[in-house]
Amino acid sequence: MLNPYDKPKTITSLYETDNSVSGEVDFRADLHEMLWTNKRGEYILFRRAAIENGAPKRCECRKDNRSNEPDRDIRCSICDGLGYYYTDYITRAYVNHSSAYSQYVRIKDVGAAKTEYQTMYFEWNFLSQITGNDTDIPNRFDRVYQLKADLAGNLLSPTEIREAYEVLSIDPYRLDNNGRIEYYRFRVTSIVDESFLV
Ligand SMILES: [Zn+2]
Repeated sequence: MLNPYDKPKTITSLYETDNSVSGEVDFRADLHEMLWTNKRGEYILFRRAAIENGAPKRCECRKDNRSNEPDRDIRCSICDGLGYYYTDYITRAYVNHSSAYSQYVRIKDVGAAKTEYQTMYFEWNFLSQITGNDTDIPNRFDRVYQLKADLAGNLLSPTEIREAYEVLSIDPYRLDNNGRIEYYRFRVTSIVDESFLV
């Protein structure tokens, strides 16, 4: 008997996906195919903060001065002015440009402030794939940079940063409360990266 799911890939259905035998949606497989096979989405430089005791690991440049701030005048060559250690990785994410005008209420020192944010979707295992550590999960100290690409979608060489973002929130998406993580939704807001300032 023919397996009803062994259909040519040209047939599309609202109720079945090519990626799932059970007929349930498989967001992991769908997002992976979208990003890497169909080349939708964008190249992202993911700046992974080094974490020590639950906080970003401070760079040497913050340890010798009274303010504990990174040096803004002479940009530190180790931390690029961020003030903490990091590792850069290149990955891909789907960027929802239509979310650019969404508003996110942030609690700041001075009170609540509304910030415009964009939404980005990262694969469930994007971090462990690039770091090799299965237990790695993203955190809000990480930074996200959109990279410039040519018209065919290939990265420029050397890489060039198009826009810098800081992370407002990270939501792991699951189909139900105890289900596996299907993808991560990041809310990010555009920042002026200190390293752009000469
Ligand atoms: Zn530094």
